[in-house]
Amino acid sequence: MPVKFTSEQNAFREAISEFAERECGTMEQRHKLTAEGTEPTNMDIMRKLGELGWTGVSVPEEYGGAGGTVVDQTIFLEGIAKGMIPAAGFGTTAIVQGAYERHGTEEQKQNILGGICEGNVEAIVMSEPGAGSDVGSLTCKADKVDGGYVINGQKTWCSNAPIASNILTIVRTDNDGPKHEGITMLGVPAGTEGMEIHPIPTLAGPHEVNDVFFTDCFVPDTSLLGEEGKGWMQLMTGLNSERIILSGMYLGIAQRAFDDTLSYVKEREQFGKPIGTFQALKHRIADMATELECLRLLIYDIAQAIDEDPNRVFAKEASMAKLKSTEVAKQISLEGMQMMGGYGYALEYDMEKHVRAGLVGTIFAGTSEIQREIIGATLGL
Ligand SMILES: Cc1cc2nc3c(=O)[nH]c(=O)nc-3n(C[C@H](O)[C@H](O)[C@H](O)COP(=O)(O)OP(=O)(O)OC[C@H]3O[C@@H](n4cnc5c(N)ncnc54)[C@H](O)[C@@H]3O)c2cc1C
Repeated sequence: MPVKFTSEQNAFREAISEFAERECGTMEQRHKLTAEGTEPTNMDIMRKLGELGWTGVSVPEEYGGAGGTVVDQTIFLEGIAKGMIPAAGFGTTAIVQGAYERHGTEEQKQNILGGICEGNVEAIVMSEPGAGSDVGSLTCKADKVDGGYVINGQKTWCSNAPIASNILTIVRTDNDGPKHEGITMLGVPAGTEGMEIHPIPTLAGPHEVNDVFFTDCFVPDTSLLGEEGKGWMQLMTGLNSERIILSGMYLGIAQRAFDDTLSYVKEREQFGKPIGTFQALKHRIADMATELECLRLLIYDIAQAIDEDPNRVFAKEASMAKLKSTEVAKQISLEGMQMMGGYGYALEYDMEKHVRAGLVGTIFAGTSEIQREIIGATLGL
């Protein structure tokens, strides 16, 4: 494999694979841990990953983490997805981790980052019914009152809301001026009075994403993350991290879909030989392997570049990673399903799960069209 990992990183990769094999290596184990495949995150597994020091792999040591790099965190995200470890909640957690590392007060870091090291799940919500791709048009508002803020409005599509310790909620605190000004980040702890979570059933299950309603929901001043009114800039500085986190997960999904396809086409025989030896399949598998290798190089190259220059915004590269990883995962899983024939479509195999994961990756956290818009803009178009 051309990507060069250190010996510690290789040992980490192996340890994640062994964990996956031991804890959720069989379909039966995975069904048990995920309520028959309907719960993408199992909190006992999250706690185990916390005890191993892995959920805090890139959290600074002073907050209880291992002080690792973006590459280390990407290895973990890839490993979770490839191993089908029911810890999908680590994705939004890692995004929130980045936001608190960049903008949190000392007390917030101790609390949020410390909790992440123990396996807490964190959620973040920007989207609203009327503010999807155009997230800057959000209207859910927070009014400044004595000692804190009062939030009113609706958020939607919040991943992991029911299991999150806090929901980092992006609100409007000022309506005057351009739409990207007056946006603020507030951390709302689970169970806060005035916050209601309603699940939105999707192809991934009944609770994966959620509406979040705020009615006169009071949060204290200490909930403010960073500066009031500077939420948009704070979101933008987190784009490197958010997009590389998702890319790591989608690399893992793509790799698993590929591995499952390859082992199936080697085993399944028709017309007296393994179906993978038919040129029609073999050439497509060669293309899939090539795409996967390109994707791996792209993602780890960008992760390494971020480690070398953490304050630089890699807008083009991060969008390329998000675009490529999710499109490749979708392509490989759909090809895998086709190559497995009827069995790819059956619940008895994992391929249909890879397809469902692959389908949504190009939609959330900025659709593929939006990533292309960003890449085009960086090219002066
Ligand atoms: C499973 C899932 C999990 C999610 N988790 C979260 C979460 O945790 N937190 C959160 O805040 N949000 C989350 N989201 C929301 C997600 O980020 C939005 O769905 C996404 O940004 C798209 O917004 P939309 O669904 O409103 O689509 P729209 O913005 O209405 O877009 C519809 C279509 O129009 C296209 N389009 C829109 N504008 C343009 C343009 N300028 N140029 C070209 N094409 C355009 C889009 O690409 C898309 O194909 C999640 C969504 C899903 C499905």
